[in-house]
Amino acid sequence: MPMLDAAAESPSRHTPVNGEPCVLLKLGELVLKGRNRDLFERRLQNNIRAAVKGLGIKIQIWQREGVIVVRTESGELADVDAVARRMTDVMGIVWVHRAWRVDKDPDATVRAALDLVGQHPALAHKGKFAIRSRRRDKRFPMTSSELNILLGSKVQERYDLPVDLKQPDIAVFVEVDQREVFVFTDGTPGAGGLPVGMSGRALVLMSGGIDSPVAAYRMMRRGLRVDFLHFSGMPFTGPESIYKAYALVRELDKFQGGSRLFVVPFGKAQQQIKTSGADRLQIVAQRRLMLKTGEIVAHNLGGAALVTGDSLGQVSSQTLQNITALDDAVELPILRPLIGMDKVEIMDEARRLNTLAISELPDEDCCTVLTPRRAETRAKIDDLRQIEKRLDAGEMAEQLATSLQEHRPSYGEPTA
Ligand code: ATP
Ligand code: MG
Repeated sequence: MPMLDAAAESPSRHTPVNGEPCVLLKLGELVLKGRNRDLFERRLQNNIRAAVKGLGIKIQIWQREGVIVVRTESGELADVDAVARRMTDVMGIVWVHRAWRVDKDPDATVRAALDLVGQHPALAHKGKFAIRSRRRDKRFPMTSSELNILLGSKVQERYDLPVDLKQPDIAVFVEVDQREVFVFTDGTPGAGGLPVGMSGRALVLMSGGIDSPVAAYRMMRRGLRVDFLHFSGMPFTGPESIYKAYALVRELDKFQGGSRLFVVPFGKAQQQIKTSGADRLQIVAQRRLMLKTGEIVAHNLGGAALVTGDSLGQVSSQTLQNITALDDAVELPILRPLIGMDKVEIMDEARRLNTLAISELPDEDCCTVLTPRRAETRAKIDDLRQIEKRLDAGEMAEQLATSLQEHRPSYGEPTA
């Protein structure tokens, strides 16, 4: 954050230097090798292009060894800043730097370093500085430590700042690449993880609650492109939960783009489960029917897994025995990225993702309408199958899967 924000306020920023501003992206998952690495990079480049589309800024992407360079056609600082900000939501990127790309010669490097220190907010209080050089091209005439010494002496000469290699207020990074030199100060942490789509596709069961949006984020971060399925209590509840699901997906859409939200009116099915005498098994039976419906929808969309926000023991439907009973309802794997997280941790993450405030808006959760006074914590699979046989749950799921309403909540669109 320091660089992007601080730089935006600095008047000296428009000083021309011998080079051009660009965005330098450091990539994650460095363990990836060979074909996986290619897949990672290709997918990431596509996702970067898709992410900047809404900005209306023309860009060019260069793949360098282990880093990606994004140039804007205009070369305007405002454009480069806008692209850099957008990059912090793109999965697979570990660091986002606003860098100067300069000619591969020591003088140009010195000029860029002096310029960056000159713009740095810590200059005002004579902060300590350090130069950190590295070479990806070992043929460069100077070694990294020679560069450090040269640049360090020039900075001292110009600005009279003390050096502190351990905890500098201003760190200037210099990276000598095959064709150019990149010079930058601080960066912004990226989202990390794997590029969306690299791991395939899955369907997220999305309530209006706190957990499922975080679960969706976690799986997108592991490279899954996700679709969303929400069950509303309509016609026995209002549409509020649908508005919430919509707003949540719109927020999460910034991580993948092109998100789809499918809404199923679930009230009548809940009523039927109730009249079948499910009693204490009502909630688990409902959840099984949601999963069965989700499985059909996922098949239609090419999804290879279901995702839920379950966390072990958090509520009565999430005991180990009940989770086992849920797994039994479908053949698709159910991914539960929050299974080992505390509520406080989940809420912290939801806050960071901007979904918490939406999740906390009041609604009538379809699940609370028909909740029995005492819910079963040790659901028996045989009992559930009995209920489902009486109801013809397979047929119900088929019906529900055809009563979908599709929405396209998009991150760029104005909020109501
Ligand atoms: P959340 O905050 O995600 O609603 P929760 O703690 O309220 O979770 P449950 O209500 O038991 O827990 O739901 C567990 C999971 O089941 C949810 O995370 C979600 O994946 C799925 N789920 C529950 N209700 C719905 C719904 N109405 N529509 C879609 N999925 C749902
Ligand atoms: Mg819930």
